Amino acid sequence: MKRKELIIVAGLIFLLPLNAQEKKYPEPAPMTPAMTEYWQPQPQVVTPDPVPSDAILLFDGKDLSQWESVKGGPAGWTVENGVFTVKRGTGDIQTKRKFGDFQLHIEWRIPEGIQGESQGRGNSGLFLQGIYEIQILDSYKNETYVNGQAASIYKQTPPLVNAMRKPGEWNSYDIIYTAPTFKKDGTYRTPPTVTVLHNGIVVQNHTIIRGTTPYIGLPEVEVHGDGPIRLQDHGDPVSFRNIWIREL
Ligand code: MG
Repeated sequence: MKRKELIIVAGLIFLLPLNAQEKKYPEPAPMTPAMTEYWQPQPQVVTPDPVPSDAILLFDGKDLSQWESVKGGPAGWTVENGVFTVKRGTGDIQTKRKFGDFQLHIEWRIPEGIQGESQGRGNSGLFLQGIYEIQILDSYKNETYVNGQAASIYKQTPPLVNAMRKPGEWNSYDIIYTAPTFKKDGTYRTPPTVTVLHNGIVVQNHTIIRGTTPYIGLPEVEVHGDGPIRLQDHGDPVSFRNIWIREL
């Protein structure tokens, strides 16, 4: 190697690491507050009182025109003084409209002086999409199997606490429900979930519903689409009022 070439090679050996150290890449631009803010679309304005302005009233205190008998024909329950009451033997009733995901408010009352025990005291029920029962029962000083007391997902999940008011007083449920989605093979891709507030107290917190809620047997997965709100005639004169729903 000639002297000149040697100098060049030696120079490269020294310069290479130096070059690597000195190479500069661009820095990300500094974040500004506006980079993580967006303004459109603006949420719809909903006024909350007396009921949310985008809610569908399912009972106006006057008639059951939004409801029908599950057996077919008009709902046969009794309407009186802004309240409707289970009429024993007429069967379950359901809304004519069907729903997917929703927020539901409903108030219900066990009659004062109710007799009976366990499941035989103030029993009704609210079926989400006509299929999954949230239990309605007199659970005021009335023990029963815990996954069958008021605000349980019937025969699946008991409420986190017992928030029941006495017979004669009104109870409320505020329910946030997410409908299931299904795979082609008929199993849940995403199971239904429900959050329930009983008298303003969280008793089901995004609980997974595992399937149907039969009296006898295990939950089963049934493929379904939108469904009604269904109320149960279990033979007890449970009353209802102030029912509204918001589609989500
Ligand atoms: Mg029931």
